[in-house]
Amino acid sequence: MTIEDERSIGFRDQVSQLRRLTTFVRPYRTRLVIGTSAVVVAAGLGLVFPAIIGTLVDTALGDAGDPDRVNVYAVALLGVFAFQAGFNYIRSYNLAIVGEGVVADLRRETFDRLVRLPVPFFDERHTGDLTSRLTADVVTVQGIVADALGRMLSQGITLVGGVILAVSISPQLSLSILTFLPIIIIASYIFGRRLRRISTEFHDQLASANSVAEEAIASIRVVKWFGAEDRLAEGYDAEVRASYEAARRRARMRSIFVPLVTFVAFSTLALVLWLGGRLVASGSLSAGDLVAFLLYTLTIAGAIGSFTSLYSEVQETAGASKRIFELLGEVPEDDRTDDGCLPEPIGSVSLRGVEFAYAGRDAAVLRGIDLDVRSGEMVALVGPSGAGKSTISQLIPRFYDVDAGSVEVDGRDVRDYPVTHLRERMAAVPQEVQMFSGTIAENLRIADPSASDEDVIVAAKAANAHRFIDEFPDGYDSVVGERGVKLSGGQRQRVAIARAVLADPRILILDEATSSLDAESESLVQEALERLMVGRTTIVIAHRLSTVIRADRLVVIDRGRIVEEGSHQHLIAADGLYAQLYATQLS
Ligand code: ATP
Repeated sequence: MTIEDERSIGFRDQVSQLRRLTTFVRPYRTRLVIGTSAVVVAAGLGLVFPAIIGTLVDTALGDAGDPDRVNVYAVALLGVFAFQAGFNYIRSYNLAIVGEGVVADLRRETFDRLVRLPVPFFDERHTGDLTSRLTADVVTVQGIVADALGRMLSQGITLVGGVILAVSISPQLSLSILTFLPIIIIASYIFGRRLRRISTEFHDQLASANSVAEEAIASIRVVKWFGAEDRLAEGYDAEVRASYEAARRRARMRSIFVPLVTFVAFSTLALVLWLGGRLVASGSLSAGDLVAFLLYTLTIAGAIGSFTSLYSEVQETAGASKRIFELLGEVPEDDRTDDGCLPEPIGSVSLRGVEFAYAGRDAAVLRGIDLDVRSGEMVALVGPSGAGKSTISQLIPRFYDVDAGSVEVDGRDVRDYPVTHLRERMAAVPQEVQMFSGTIAENLRIADPSASDEDVIVAAKAANAHRFIDEFPDGYDSVVGERGVKLSGGQRQRVAIARAVLADPRILILDEATSSLDAESESLVQEALERLMVGRTTIVIAHRLSTVIRADRLVVIDRGRIVEEGSHQHLIAADGLYAQLYATQLS
């Protein structure tokens, strides 16, 4: 579905999306009631003041112009304005709090759900799409929640009250004005819709230009390596040109629309003054009534204008909340509760007849994999690129579910564990180590938030990371990330090892770094890994000869199948795929 489609959802869908929002509003109902009541009072006061002004004018112009009574009306007018300001304060503050509260809750809940969604969900989505639901869509919803009900009530009261009062002043004048009303409403509706469509086009175009820029910035090194600056600038230029075109069309539409509306509004005033002036001249309407009538016409026009924009906002909000609720409707990882009979963590892993294909891909990635890894064993998965080694390692923590067969950890199917308990039994040292913005200590404590400072240091020492961390100006409190210290590849690896030490799992999954570290760094990483592996089951996706030679067992994978299995010597002697790969690497 395109964004345009998502924004223009059907009326029924709009209603149901908005109804779902009300559950988020419920906790704030007291403030909502206070704010909405203030709206009603303020709107009522807004209807009173034209009448006072009219009476004031008549009193001033009357035959026996009475300055004392003029004083009274002026003071009354001031009082009305003051009350209106007070109630507007109550309205604005309370409704804003409702809006902000709902938005904060929506964000919290959406994010909470997002991080609990299974890995395949993230394979299929763009990061930008997901973050925009948390940011832009939530903000769109905020406007309507904070304001819509209040505005609808306020404009409704103003409109109905204004028409009644205008008619009560002069039915004749009202009738002539009201004949113009439908024309204005229809025209502004049609114009408004076109303007909105062009605006959407402009925003979409701008978003697409932004994504080009974001991508270029994120991969600036690749851009420079391949001298792709000109090509990128041309691509960006095309996007900007398109958004400029959309902006130009929007500007033209606006430039016609705004003066036109102003002209129509002033024409109505002229009409009221012309027809009303004649009535005043003929003595059938007082000057004060004409002034009051004029003011009511203005408030009615304001209310109508506000209604048309309100409608488009409601539509937009329904679209945005649909996108948010879509996310909230996603099923989180199947996380069963602890049934009290979880097996002792001993560190055994078995794959039995595992068949697996990634969602949306027909080709099976794993076919009939049978593999038993005993507690404390070190098994190296080897094989050509794309054979399915990493995929196996992702089935063990249940990032993906098998299509057939089963994966067992400590003798129990991974699908029968609470996922957190399952993953507690294992830790990974990946090739690409992700760091979070924050201090080094915080980055280590991801593995165990309750670890003491001492635990953290012990783990870092075991991972050969203590020395380089200690040399940073702020030691363990040094901030990593964009504005903080930068870690080298080897240092990141050692941070990952320290995390694994803190997690203290029974099962280790190592994805060896293919990018060669320098000799010294590599030996530090290697030494730390050796220490980490002692007494644990280790499954390593092996790229280095040194690793495979030390492993208890090598499992050779090719196109999703286990084709050979055994010790290094055994496989060399067998002279199969492994022997070939080994010979290639050596040469
Ligand atoms: P390498 O040694 O190059 O890392 P590998 O043996 O670890 O390779 P896998 O990463 O398991 O291979 O990939 C096996 C196949 O699955 C490949 O054809 C790959 O394109 C595909 N694949 C991997 N990850 C995904 C994913 N998230 N979605 C769809 N297909 C994937």
